[in-house]
Amino acid sequence: MGYTPASAVKKGLDSDELYCQRCFRLRHYNEIAPVSLTDDDFLRLLGQIRDANALIVYVIDIFDFNGSLIPGLHRFVGDNPVLLVGNKEDLLPRSLRRPKLRDWMRQQANQAGLRPIDTVLVSAKKNHQIDNLLDTIEKYRHGQDVYVVGVTNVGKSTLINQIIKQRTGVKDLITTSRFPGTTLDEIEIPLDDGHRLVDTPGIIHPHQMAHVLPAKDLKIVAPQKEIKPRTYQLDAGQTVFIGGVARFDYEKGPHAGFVTYFDNNLTLHRTKLTNADAFYKKHLGDLLTPPTVDEKDQFPPLEREEFRVNKKSDIVFEGLGWITVPAGTTVAAWVPKGVAALVRKAMI
Ligand code: GDP
Repeated sequence: MGYTPASAVKKGLDSDELYCQRCFRLRHYNEIAPVSLTDDDFLRLLGQIRDANALIVYVIDIFDFNGSLIPGLHRFVGDNPVLLVGNKEDLLPRSLRRPKLRDWMRQQANQAGLRPIDTVLVSAKKNHQIDNLLDTIEKYRHGQDVYVVGVTNVGKSTLINQIIKQRTGVKDLITTSRFPGTTLDEIEIPLDDGHRLVDTPGIIHPHQMAHVLPAKDLKIVAPQKEIKPRTYQLDAGQTVFIGGVARFDYEKGPHAGFVTYFDNNLTLHRTKLTNADAFYKKHLGDLLTPPTVDEKDQFPPLEREEFRVNKKSDIVFEGLGWITVPAGTTVAAWVPKGVAALVRKAMI
């Protein structure tokens, strides 16, 4: 079971009710506690899903595709069809055509070994396309149960709550039970034909930015609004700092435009590559923030990874954003130890 915070114990003494943290979140926010992919109970649950006949609704954060991947998902789903749902659609520039984005999402899924039956883009927060998602679920579930899976932070709870609102018109309705043979909670939404849509615990992804940055800094780097791309005309030998959390070096290639996709409030700072190490040491916590001055000593060192780019690509700073880089260049990405940097086909 979860734990009971001291503040709740105090309050609990005054009222009759005393909840553990997990029950409280479950009851008040329709959220269930996350688990690790290696948790025995969770593996048992995945086994149940594999053996069931069900539609798997796989929720990803379209802004953090790689950080949304569940390692080995194709093994856990067995022969069940997977509907890929790209959430947080509201963060991407409106000028980006949605059919193109869905194609891109499908290609990325294929590369990860997954063949989704279809793709849907939604914004759980803005309540965009939730009707369409529910229709698409009906289309593919063929009278079976539906399991919703995803790593933490992709917006799965927000989505489940929208679905509950949409289906029942009741804001606080919640039906919960426990997966048979496990200690794990589930949220179960009844469907019209006696079948159910089941929320599963969010899976903790070990390489998320969320594990390196304090929660209040995460709020600064995690975009809340439509991202406004910022373009930099760079010469080889220039560096762009992304707050104090990441760094991009343009090593080799012609004078060219680089388009950055980060939260609009995150400050980018351009400097000379030869001076970049010293600049970081001197200005981490003030010009280059987050982290703040108080946090910078705890902040993990940035690690460098080099990329040779042959065709227009995105250099992804996992959980933070990306930079679109032209062909024929050599660049380096620096990210906090434990966070991934990678190259992928350009999204835009
Ligand atoms: P979970 O861990 O997958 O259940 O994720 P949550 O539902 O708790 O959401 C994680 C964060 O993403 C929260 O800060 C949400 O406000 C935010 N979020 C969820 N859905 C959306 C969305 O559609 N758009 C945007 N911009 N943010 C979202």
